[in-house]
Amino acid sequence: MELMTQLVQAVYLVAAVLFILSLAGLSKQETAGLGNLAGKVGMVLALAATVALALINSERNAGVTAALIFLALGIGAIAGSWKARSVEMTQMPEMIAILHSFVGLAAVLVGFNSYLTDSHGGAVHLVEVFLGVFIGAITFTGSIVAWLKLAAKIKSKPLTLPGRHLLNAGAVVISLGLMGWFIAAPSIWPLLIMTALALFVGWHLVMAIGGGDMPVVVSMLNSYSGWAAAAAGFMLSNDLLIVTGALVGSSGAILSYIMCKAMNRSFISVILGGFGADDSASAGGGGGAVVEGEHHEITAEEVAQLLKEAESILITPGYGMAVAKAQYPVAELTTKLRAEGKHVVFGVHPVAGRLPGHMNVLLAEAKVPYDIVEELEEVNEEMPKTDIVLVIGANDTVNPAAEDDPSSPIAGMPVIQVWNAGKVIVFKRSMAVGYAGVQNPLFFKDNTSMLFGDAKERVEDIVRAM
Ligand code: NDP
Repeated sequence: MELMTQLVQAVYLVAAVLFILSLAGLSKQETAGLGNLAGKVGMVLALAATVALALINSERNAGVTAALIFLALGIGAIAGSWKARSVEMTQMPEMIAILHSFVGLAAVLVGFNSYLTDSHGGAVHLVEVFLGVFIGAITFTGSIVAWLKLAAKIKSKPLTLPGRHLLNAGAVVISLGLMGWFIAAPSIWPLLIMTALALFVGWHLVMAIGGGDMPVVVSMLNSYSGWAAAAAGFMLSNDLLIVTGALVGSSGAILSYIMCKAMNRSFISVILGGFGADDSASAGGGGGAVVEGEHHEITAEEVAQLLKEAESILITPGYGMAVAKAQYPVAELTTKLRAEGKHVVFGVHPVAGRLPGHMNVLLAEAKVPYDIVEELEEVNEEMPKTDIVLVIGANDTVNPAAEDDPSSPIAGMPVIQVWNAGKVIVFKRSMAVGYAGVQNPLFFKDNTSMLFGDAKERVEDIVRAM
């Protein structure tokens, strides 16, 4: 028995190292496949060791414990593989948000279970339970609101209740008081009252964030779900869960920082919410100065001709490329252009799409070589030397108002300065605004032409015309 427990701990250690290698691998496109594999092997080892540990420690009939575990695993595996197969790439952000809510709920349930089954665990255990339930409950409702907003089931517009900061601060102070009560005289009541408060804080925090700040919400909830898992690890005395939770928690926090930097926003101001609180700036409602002027239209055949004459070409994808699934014809067009000796580069904005790394995943899926995928700063430097830019379903991430119009809700966000190139072609279906709901003066510039229609169909038209 002792030997088995030690063996499980050794497997946990191997799994933890594999998770770290997985994160390291996933940080670069070249090593992402290996990173993914390390993560899968680590997870299989972790699951097997956890099941073995549960069976070793089982106080009741080990057969019943095994049956319950495999029933839960079976239901999870069926639901997970069905969802993974059926989910559209454009639904990934909302799916990730709802998965975070499961982690939060699990931490809450583990917390209550841990308290009810071990109510004399001492002050340290009580603090673990209290914090685990607190973080879990915030993650649970926060993720549900994020899911509703990302799936467009509720408006993305921030909700700004009067005295909202006071409300949040008040809830945290009362929760601290409740923790004192819970430790001094353990009972279910302070735990229940705090859970209700934390559920409110999670809902309220994410309701107050909206528009262009949603990328940070996704990564922030990713981080919270990690800390919730780590808290569950403490309650269950499971070292691997603590390590894994801490890995997810800290990598989510680093990602939130990167996203904030990409949007030139301070983390605190994002968390406190209120982006686009002004009605005029709400998603879909316009915002900033009114843009007037005429736009020019162009046909796919004309774009094909321009591409034939161009030497250096930049492709800037955005959310519309994901919606249209245009990455495949875009990759085909790229191959064609490169075969003709043209210099083709992709410029990917860090918040393009609806998920951190969204565009990189799509381009990798379509086998676009990763050495021609560059970041915002690199392509902006080269922009004046670029003959033609194809903006494929991007809008907010190429909006000059972010630089020129201080009244714009996206003012200060670094953008891809496509207008500095010789010619810009914007692929979209209409003159509609992007995610942040702000008008885009790019569409009215002299060197910009609009190619209306579904991005996939239009790129296919160009490939045919070439
Ligand atoms: P936007 O969301 O600003 O704009 C996308 C454009 O694609 C729309 O204007 C739409 O115009 C067009 N489009 C939609 N479907 C199609 C189609 N089938 N064919 C052609 N065009 C289409 O895109 P960006 O990627 O530039 O910006 C991302 C925005 O999302 C930012 O505001 C960012 O803050 C936010 N966000 C990002 C997250 C992330 O983690 N990356 C998470 C949550 C939000 P039309 O309807 O006229 O076709």
